[in-house]
Amino acid sequence: MLKVSAVDLGASSGRISVGSFDGGKISLAEVYRFPNFPINLGSGVVWDFPRLFHEVKLGLRKMQLDYSQSIHSIGIDTWGLDFGLIGENGELISVPLHHRDPLNEEGMELVDRKLDRSTVYRKTGVQFMPVNTINQLARLVKYQPYLLDVSKNLLMMPDLFHFFLTGQNSSEYTIATTTQLLDVNQKSWDEELLDWLGLRRSLFTGVALPGTNLGPLRSEVQRETNLLTTRVISVATHDTASAVVGTPLASKNSLFISCGSWSLVGIEIENPIVNETTLSLNLSNEGGAFDTIRLLKNSMGLWLLQEVKRQYEALGDTVDFPSLVSGAFTAPAFKTFIFPDDPVFLPPNNMIERIQNWCVTHSLPKPETRCEIVRCILESLAMRYREILEEVEAAVGCQIDVIHIVGGGSQNELLCQWTANVTGRQVAAGPSEATSLGNMALQLYANREVSNLKEIREVINNSFQRHIYEPANVSAWEEQYRISKAKTQR
Ligand code: ADP
Repeated sequence: MLKVSAVDLGASSGRISVGSFDGGKISLAEVYRFPNFPINLGSGVVWDFPRLFHEVKLGLRKMQLDYSQSIHSIGIDTWGLDFGLIGENGELISVPLHHRDPLNEEGMELVDRKLDRSTVYRKTGVQFMPVNTINQLARLVKYQPYLLDVSKNLLMMPDLFHFFLTGQNSSEYTIATTTQLLDVNQKSWDEELLDWLGLRRSLFTGVALPGTNLGPLRSEVQRETNLLTTRVISVATHDTASAVVGTPLASKNSLFISCGSWSLVGIEIENPIVNETTLSLNLSNEGGAFDTIRLLKNSMGLWLLQEVKRQYEALGDTVDFPSLVSGAFTAPAFKTFIFPDDPVFLPPNNMIERIQNWCVTHSLPKPETRCEIVRCILESLAMRYREILEEVEAAVGCQIDVIHIVGGGSQNELLCQWTANVTGRQVAAGPSEATSLGNMALQLYANREVSNLKEIREVINNSFQRHIYEPANVSAWEEQYRISKAKTQR
């Protein structure tokens, strides 16, 4: 039995799990979980990297106590877009900025003023969003160039964890594709883009494909965790890349929805599709493991629900996701809709008021009660998934047959059922921990336990049950889809 460990750092929580592989099936046991959230300093929204690093070490120590020295390797994956800067002596130059910092909108304007969108898209194949690394960097170049001047390397979030855990600094390919600075065909930094933006080429380290062995933990970390022989494998370190590896796609025409803080909605393809259609639809070509590309759209996702929950908690209420979802079931259907991807919903705080104001400014009924607000979010997300499904079909020229929903949101029965209803497609929900499984799968691959993606998905398919949702009430949803599209016109 080979045991590997996944450190999966999502935008809303971090978790450390152990996977036990018996040659045919894999089982997963969660060892440690801790919350993650944006921190508003007033001067900017940031990640508390030192605390996250501390939590990872606590979790690894707990794992060592539970499993002794039997863990063969560790893989780390995180959300995309964000990075840290490392100085000459290996010091962290500043706390990493959070992609939800509202000032990234200005970063996007700075890039737009400098570079033509079709040129950037032709080079990178990446969707334009204020949250992109390129925009965060444009801001730094303008307002804090001294931070870049004293930095030796820029490391994306998983690479930053790798650096502090092992001392190795490298750029893993799948996470690098979220920057909008990587050449989509060459799989290397686009040096012309770096030059145009005024970014020193030497800040960026060489790009390595997933599956690289980074060696043991550095000695201080070994002492703190007592993990003496465990290696760190650079897996598909972007959580979406790991999630899709861990999704047993039924066919090449399956749509995946990696459903967590963000909803990543797309299809796995062999080669990037970069043309006028994908540019006008604003679809991303994100790099995957095993030479795959994910043609997808980043959509707002359950962030909306997380923020609403956080707001009720701040009022002193005890709320959890299952009760929010069951409450939504009791609210009137199709009362009102929002366009979940309106940038107004990107930053933290006051989500309830922002949703209500959005409805008022779009001459739509205001959701009043908690159940109505949650129902509005979930119905609007399902409608948005249908819209993106149609975009993906148009870009690829195929008909989607099945939808796979993975991640925490796969436990949301209403969202899964409503997605089936509004799309008229079967939804296969789960595994909810697809990201950790994909992370572990790359470690098994690096250790030659599995030899390709097909085999990995067979293992996962044989190891986990999925919940199937058949479309129901399709004509009512079809009618409401038309209405919501017209009413939330932007
Ligand atoms: P991330 O990786 O971005 O942190 P996750 O994949 O952990 O996100 O998914 C988090 C989301 O999953 C939450 O916002 C919540 O909406 C949903 N979720 C988690 N547990 C449940 C549950 N028991 N029932 C319904 N939804 C859930």
